[in-house]
Amino acid sequence: MRLATYRQRTAGADGREHLGIVLGDRVVNLCAAARAFALPDVHDDLAGFLHQGAAALDVAREVAARCTDDATKGIALADAQLLAPIPHPARNMVCVGLNYAEHVAESRSVAGSDAPKYPVFFTKPPTCVIGPDEPIPSHAAVTSEVDWEVELAAVIGREGRDIAEEQALDYVFGYTVANDVTARDLQRRHGQWYKGKGLDGFCPLGPLVVTADEIPDPQALTVSLRVNGAEKQRARTTQMIFSVARLIAEWSAGMTLLPGDILLTGTPSGVGIGRNPPEFLKAGDVVEAEIEGIGVLRNPVGA
Ligand code: MG
Repeated sequence: MRLATYRQRTAGADGREHLGIVLGDRVVNLCAAARAFALPDVHDDLAGFLHQGAAALDVAREVAARCTDDATKGIALADAQLLAPIPHPARNMVCVGLNYAEHVAESRSVAGSDAPKYPVFFTKPPTCVIGPDEPIPSHAAVTSEVDWEVELAAVIGREGRDIAEEQALDYVFGYTVANDVTARDLQRRHGQWYKGKGLDGFCPLGPLVVTADEIPDPQALTVSLRVNGAEKQRARTTQMIFSVARLIAEWSAGMTLLPGDILLTGTPSGVGIGRNPPEFLKAGDVVEAEIEGIGVLRNPVGA
């Protein structure tokens, strides 16, 4: 199943954010459809929906099964503005640095490290999150080195702690695309990465969440990124140093994961700082981050 957070664009729409099921080129208001079919109520936002647990997912599947004609299949996707799947996360995104060997090699100038023996965790605050087509702010007053990083993101669906690697994927509700936008000059200057990766708008997410049953092996996906149509990054998630399951096991050791938590799993090589000469984003550029089976997350760069 494909779930999106959206706002209806058409005249007379309520202007509010809704949780939708994407069916082909249409999106169904999940909460309203459940009510229309006299099914149990579900939250109208993905974070709330995830806290409702498996029962809410059953309702969503039932709604999807019953929406078979245009009368029940909601509105055209073209009439919906897709937002980040979780536009206002309750907690920081948990991110992993240096999780692809070739990216470790190209990162020595800012990270100065060898391939890690354990995952390098850092976080991005909720104020980083923007949705598809929203401009990435240039922040020209504080940085001149804004860089791109396409990453597979896992959305956690169940609370858990001390999760065994073998069970870890059971805690993933679904997957989406992230761009771990980074100010390289700030990343270098401040040592710890929180500042350089934490500026407002520096975490585009979307365009939707694909449930984990449709991605049984997250280590078998192609990730890629284009700037103004020119490919900059392309890799397979098989090349990750630490698998999604291993990352969740390490992260959850002694720490509680909650429904709605978001894990960014690291970027492959091809970032701007690693190029010769280095390349950075400028106002007017268009960045497209893509993951096989999920979709394209497109963002222009703003002034
Ligand atoms: Mg990253």
